[in-house]
Amino acid sequence: MRPEILFALFQPATNLKGVGPRVAALLDRLGASRVLDLIWLLPSGVIDRGYRPKLEDAETGRVATIDVTVTEHRAGRGRQPYRVIVTDGTASAALVFFNPRRDWLEQTYPPGARRLISGRIDRYGDALQMAHPDYAVDPAAGEEIPAIEPVYPLTAGLAPKTLRHIVARAAAQAPDLPEWLDPALKERHGFPAWRDAVRSVHAPERATAIESTPALRRLAYDELLANQLALSLVRRRLKRRGGRRLQGDGRIAEKVRQGLRWELTGAQRRVLAEILEDMASPHRMMRLIQGDVGSGKTVVALLAAAAAVEAGTQAALMVPTEVLARQHARTLVDLAGDAGLRIACLTGRDKTQARRTILRDLNEGRIDLLVGTHALFQEGVDFHDLGLVIVDEQHRFGVHQRMLLSEKSERPADILVMTATPIPRTLAMTAYGDMDVSRIDERPPGRAAVDTRVVSAERLDDVIERLSAAMDRGDRAYWICPLVEETEDSELAAAEQRHRELRQRFGDRVGLVHGRMRAEDKDMALQRFADGDATLLVATTVVEVGVDVPEATIIVIEEADRFGLAQLHQLRGRVGRGDRPGVCLLIYRPPLGETARARLRTLRETDDGFRIAEEDYRLRGAGELLGTRQSGLPGMRLAAIDRDQDLMEIAHDDARLIVETDPELRKERGRALRILLYLFERDAAIRYLESG
Ligand code: ADP
Ligand code: MG
Repeated sequence: MRPEILFALFQPATNLKGVGPRVAALLDRLGASRVLDLIWLLPSGVIDRGYRPKLEDAETGRVATIDVTVTEHRAGRGRQPYRVIVTDGTASAALVFFNPRRDWLEQTYPPGARRLISGRIDRYGDALQMAHPDYAVDPAAGEEIPAIEPVYPLTAGLAPKTLRHIVARAAAQAPDLPEWLDPALKERHGFPAWRDAVRSVHAPERATAIESTPALRRLAYDELLANQLALSLVRRRLKRRGGRRLQGDGRIAEKVRQGLRWELTGAQRRVLAEILEDMASPHRMMRLIQGDVGSGKTVVALLAAAAAVEAGTQAALMVPTEVLARQHARTLVDLAGDAGLRIACLTGRDKTQARRTILRDLNEGRIDLLVGTHALFQEGVDFHDLGLVIVDEQHRFGVHQRMLLSEKSERPADILVMTATPIPRTLAMTAYGDMDVSRIDERPPGRAAVDTRVVSAERLDDVIERLSAAMDRGDRAYWICPLVEETEDSELAAAEQRHRELRQRFGDRVGLVHGRMRAEDKDMALQRFADGDATLLVATTVVEVGVDVPEATIIVIEEADRFGLAQLHQLRGRVGRGDRPGVCLLIYRPPLGETARARLRTLRETDDGFRIAEEDYRLRGAGELLGTRQSGLPGMRLAAIDRDQDLMEIAHDDARLIVETDPELRKERGRALRILLYLFERDAAIRYLESG
């Protein structure tokens, strides 16, 4: 239950004076339907009304606050505006009104009265003027104009002044909440108390950069802490529920390793050791493995699975598509050699009989490692004893799905998530704060960097000539077709068209694979390419994740400037996987804009997935990277990636420490933290507290 102290904040905005149905509808558009939302509506800037010149000195174009006396009204003739003439003894100026209400003007500016006015000073010919002053108050009556005024996001139909007043009223409702911040942290950063922070954000005192005041940073920290704390609580619960020691004796893993044609890299060994240690501990493993394309995650997954099997349990590997499931299964069988691992693949299209056999074998423990899509966790798939779940390329999953996944099994399995998306650290913490993170930060040796070139579409004929020569030498190539207007249909049309053209030139050696094909056909097309029956594979972005054909050395990407950098990097990772150097041709249709050029240049200059991701993130925001469309930090309203990076790290550590020292949030600070969780609507995390 939400604590009473927060009730006022969760009331609808209509509870505030001045918010009727019409205004409420407009506020809705700003995402502010409750008092709290209005508090979170941060000013985008400020207006400084502290400039108080004499009229004769007033600079045009500036917002000025001036003490004047009204001299006369001049109603405009024809289309001329209405003017109120004022003076301050040094000069006179015209206050200009279009479509004014006469009675209101006469009331506001009675001739002879003193007024403090504020607005933008302009010049019209030789005359000073101010159109529609923002303020006209009576200093004799003690009325004042704020020196600094916050500016809020605009929405049509809602006057800035109205919104400002409403937000001020909302901010005034902010209760005095018990402090949840660590006193030392608060002191170090000069953070005000929560209520003071809210008030000062909405009533700034200085015109300096609004975005880095301690007040705003405090609110951002609160949000980050709420997020990290919720994740830490989820994590604790997952770890507590079950957890078992899975300790292998190495009998299978040893054989696998002996059968490999190469040594594990240092990074693979280190990450594997971290995984094995997690598995052997009584706690449940929740580990994220980040490894750039080609860093060799698959064999690490296999060796982890081997340990689970040695310990007498089964392992499951979940991948995003059926094609990948088939392919991974083949690769794993290949890597495992005769180590004695029984590997099977289960996809939705397995025929009833085959499926039944797999399910029975699985249930009776005759399958050690099952590969498949999310269908692995559907009704009717009963493992004999599932010890380890590996999720590959799963950046489209959120915390919530991970929870579901883990609740599936009665004796909770260890969880290993592998992603090739090189998520920047900050973002990784927001999205995967519940997990421990390992990085495979080294590639297998002997790989030449892929030679990346940016080529105009006007030279497509040259490209095809070179391709032809390369194919004659026995090379294989991908040809990636652009995302046309993001609809699958047009994407498909483009791919089919290109396929026809290339077939005219190269005949049967050209294959085609796209998202609309039936899984069997996709499989077949990929298989023909893997076997070398097709040497040129025209594809839409379906090949982006995980397809592994070491003989492929060339990748042509059409309209490369339409893709995200991280995505291009993934695509490029499809070549240069064998011992022959790879070539990546990024084709653009001229003219190429400045930013697009810079982006493609990044790709040419570096092969470091993390650097590329950081760059992509900077240019396009988090949404693209995580496969969602939002920008900024996912689920964050106050914290900003650039400004608050340092705070994110602190919040991460802070949250883990809190959960260690007061896991049920019962101590004094813990109770305050519960309020924080409610404030940021991380209520679900509170339920985990109760359910242990
Ligand atoms: P990813 O991390 O992109 O999933 P893979 O696991 O598919 O990478 O590995 C990429 C390629 O590198 C595969 O062909 C794999 O067999 C090979 N590979 C993996 N580890 C090593 C290693 N230590 N030495 C040499 N080649 C390796
Ligand atoms: Mg992989």
